[in-house]
Amino acid sequence: MEELKGCPACESNFNAFITCKDFTVSGEYFTVNQCVECGLKFTSPRPAEAEIGRYYQSQDYISHSNKNNDGIGKLYAAVRQFAVYQKVKLIMYLVPRGSQIVDLGAGNGYFVKQLKASGYNASGFEPSDDARKVAQTDFDIEIEALERFQEVEMQSVKCITLWHVLEHIHSLKKTLSDIHSKLTAGGYLIIAVPNPESYDAKHYKEYWAAYDVPRHLYHFSAGSITKLLAQSGFQLKEKKPMLFDSTYVALLSEKYKSGKLSLPQLLKGLWFGFISNVNGFLFTKNFSSHIYIFKKQN
Ligand SMILES: [Zn+2]
Repeated sequence: MEELKGCPACESNFNAFITCKDFTVSGEYFTVNQCVECGLKFTSPRPAEAEIGRYYQSQDYISHSNKNNDGIGKLYAAVRQFAVYQKVKLIMYLVPRGSQIVDLGAGNGYFVKQLKASGYNASGFEPSDDARKVAQTDFDIEIEALERFQEVEMQSVKCITLWHVLEHIHSLKKTLSDIHSKLTAGGYLIIAVPNPESYDAKHYKEYWAAYDVPRHLYHFSAGSITKLLAQSGFQLKEKKPMLFDSTYVALLSEKYKSGKLSLPQLLKGLWFGFISNVNGFLFTKNFSSHIYIFKKQN
């Protein structure tokens, strides 16, 4: 384990915020802390980069796999299909066809495949060998190893996307600085992350599935991510809700809370997922997950 001595964004002091269990792999407990200065929440102590691999080894860890057997897995796959079209639409709204796009943490490569089909010069980078194999076999697409992102030409990329990826990266500031150097002037950085200020986070507390410790190293609010990205030379242009995430996260949280997902939990999950979105629209503008669109400055 590595224990952080200061906030990973601004190096200030921090306090313990909540203790959560790793429900999917190890059953171990981890503390989520909160910075007193910038408000960033982060997991510490956390597995070091070299030892975190084993915390990703589970049949339940479905974000890379294309084989989903249980109900949640099937729902997740169907929603993901739809979500990919929404993501491609967002790219089309921001940058013209033919532009160079990079997807970091490309997983099974489905998003990159759809970008290419829509006329973009898209490439994906991914640390997991297994996910890259799935990309090759299931989607017939070549996804590069993450190290090869270093070889991308400076100031050549119009838009870089990180879909539920930034919260997994150990070297946070180094990665943001690399991204900054690869983007063209005025290029876009799109980051999707869960939001610990959402209604579902507050409702489920330590059972909130999107804490997902220790794989999620950071738990960004709109305020803390905006501050961090400003330090790295990015300005927030727009924040959008990811409306399906609340239901998915609420269903998983119900499962963690009671150890099963039968009808009562299913109904409660659907209800609180819905309420989370209603709450976001009507009152707080905080949704289960957000998409942040940043623009490179200077
Ligand atoms: Zn801080």
